[in-house]
Amino acid sequence: MDNFLPPVIAIDGPSASGKGSVAERVANYFGFHYLDSGAIYRLLAYAAFQQKVAWSDAEHLAEIASQMQIRFEHGEAYLDGEQVSAHIRTENMGKGASEVAVHPAVRTALFQTQRNFRQAPGLVGDGRDIGSVIFPDAGLKIFLTAAVETRAKRRYDQLIQRGESADYALILADLQQRDLRDSQRAVAPLKQLPDAILLDTTDKNIEQAVNIIIEAFKKAT
Ligand code: C5P
Repeated sequence: MDNFLPPVIAIDGPSASGKGSVAERVANYFGFHYLDSGAIYRLLAYAAFQQKVAWSDAEHLAEIASQMQIRFEHGEAYLDGEQVSAHIRTENMGKGASEVAVHPAVRTALFQTQRNFRQAPGLVGDGRDIGSVIFPDAGLKIFLTAAVETRAKRRYDQLIQRGESADYALILADLQQRDLRDSQRAVAPLKQLPDAILLDTTDKNIEQAVNIIIEAFKKAT
């Protein structure tokens, strides 16, 4: 049928809840495409930073958002043809992403960009508003979360493992601030939808979370 829409699994949740790792593995299992929507906001924060446009300048940000060429290939992010993965994965660009993401004009400019990822045979998308705004008709919606202290510890371990310096108290404070900004903003705030399955990974590892989602999707289809 012409109007067949590929299925979508929406995985939303707070920063450092493990959404990325979990979503990517679920996508691999089903052979689906993967949309890391946070990376798109990070790419915008980075593009603005490079062009010396403030993260508070909604009008210019929306313009950049509608013009920037983004691409993901083999897990790497490209901005206007340049591979910028390491640049957008910093704590600073995470902060920038959460600042540019509060502007309604920015979210509107990035709406269709994200919708375009819905390609056969299916899509796993992760972010804050994938199930509420981008794909409200997703066949399965997951709210992936964990206690903020657990998320801070995971991020801390990740940074140490990468050989970077890390301060647990700072990471915890930053996550708490980001949770607040993401959940209290006027447009597309982070919240658990009534039709989403709550998956708390405080006491679960990635593999357990992945299996729960795989089983839930099999049941839902
Ligand atoms: O998931 P990640 O930490 O890469 O996202 C960075 C920031 O981008 C988040 O803190 C959030 O403010 C914003 N974001 C968003 N909507 C999404 C994905 C990310 O507002 N769908």
